[in-house]
Amino acid sequence: MKFSLVISVLLIVSVCAAQKVAITFDDLPLNGDLPPGVTRVQIARDAIAILNARHAPAAYGFINARKLEGNSDAADALKIWAATEPIGNHTYGHINLNTNPAEAFEREIDENEPSLELLAGKDGDWHWLRYPFLHEGETDEKRRAVRAYLQAHGYRVAQVTLDWEDYLWNSAYARCAAKSDAPSITWLKSSYLSIESSYLDLGRDLAKMVYGHDINHVLLLHLGAFSRTILPDALDLMQKKGFTFVTLEEAESDPVYEGDPDVGSKYGGTLLELWIEAKKIKFPPVMEKPYKQLQEICK
Ligand SMILES: [Zn+2]
Repeated sequence: MKFSLVISVLLIVSVCAAQKVAITFDDLPLNGDLPPGVTRVQIARDAIAILNARHAPAAYGFINARKLEGNSDAADALKIWAATEPIGNHTYGHINLNTNPAEAFEREIDENEPSLELLAGKDGDWHWLRYPFLHEGETDEKRRAVRAYLQAHGYRVAQVTLDWEDYLWNSAYARCAAKSDAPSITWLKSSYLSIESSYLDLGRDLAKMVYGHDINHVLLLHLGAFSRTILPDALDLMQKKGFTFVTLEEAESDPVYEGDPDVGSKYGGTLLELWIEAKKIKFPPVMEKPYKQLQEICK
């Protein structure tokens, strides 16, 4: 009796340990377009309030400081984010490493740093890089060169294991909100949540294919027009599926994050996708995203 109790407690603990996820946001201060009359400040403030209401721990926002040039709303939104949430480097102008030399990419990391330093303050741990487009270099040589630069400059890579291209819904929502098109907004919500559901399952499946067991996950979201509308349902769905929210540091304390697929890739992708490419595993079937509808809706 006692023995089986111990076993069941161990099982519960191990299941819980496998369900951790760090929520992160890219493209701050804003991804995509805004509906008329809505500010970046409002989007940032509302997203933080939604995270707080669910007691989610600090969520990294990865910034492109070029978006601050001549835009006080963008600067104010970032100040609001950085006052309560950590920030990290997403390069100055969202440069694509697969179409630029390593040196240009490294310059953009460097160019982003004064804003990070200023916003994060003395105690801010902003030495985390999220690769724009999840492009880490299309050749082994370029990939390794930037990896070496990051290590020499004290950066950790903010990995991604869960990603459903949520950014596709941001500008679509901005257009539908501008037209007050309620049925289209209802479709945006339902299509988002069904893709999210399927990609959460996919991420867990890919982790088992790559590592043979569950892992701590890192989720990539993009802060944009749709965030404050969809985040409550999106977070509820994750909790319903058994995920608990942790910091990026805690998620990446999982030993799997010490491994590196070390593969130049013209497609890029999540850590799990890169491993699948490196290990030449056959990719499982995935639910098709409504790219065309999202592009055309409310135009
Ligand atoms: Zn980005």
